[in-house]
Amino acid sequence: MELACLDLEGVLIPEIWVAFAKKTGIPELEATTRDVPDYDQLMQQRLRLLSEHGYGFPAIQEVIGELEPLPGAPEFLTWLRKHFQVVILSDTFYEFAMPLMAKLGYPTLLCHRLGVGADGTIENYFLRQPDPKRQAVRAFQLLNMRCIATGDSYNDTTMLKQAEAGILFHAPENVITEFPQFPAVHDFDGLRAEFLKASNEHPDG
Ligand SMILES: [Mg+2]
Repeated sequence: MELACLDLEGVLIPEIWVAFAKKTGIPELEATTRDVPDYDQLMQQRLRLLSEHGYGFPAIQEVIGELEPLPGAPEFLTWLRKHFQVVILSDTFYEFAMPLMAKLGYPTLLCHRLGVGADGTIENYFLRQPDPKRQAVRAFQLLNMRCIATGDSYNDTTMLKQAEAGILFHAPENVITEFPQFPAVHDFDGLRAEFLKASNEHPDG
């Protein structure tokens, strides 16, 4: 049995923090782990900025609710679910992702959680586990699932290595160069073709 393991941001939906920063006009929120390598420090900075600008949880959900999946993503996901079991492995938070998951038909999503206070303030965050994408693939393999994984960035590469097949999608040039063992594609037609190539079960689509 084969399982498709998908990254979320940059594959099916825009980068949530970047899109949120643009929508709200808070450029400092566009910082990523490339600017602030320490993830805890980065998250503390994000939570501080949200509170400084008066964004509690309901306001954030409303802004995120106005975002759309990437063009072609819903159709790709429908195709993928017809041919594979699908699970989305993401480093986002349920509280952020759910408005967008509604637009994708609520596929299975494993990600992290935010701690929201009674007044709607985001007070904290809880990571599901360390190296969560690779650990999920490992666990599925113990269930005799053959995993084909795809993602766009560094935080996907341990999952891509652990999976029986890994595919880079929409990845920046430095990631493609650093991980030449993975095929790299930039559109959904290319991704469909790579999934079919990697599959033992659907050689003809
Ligand atoms: Mg991503």
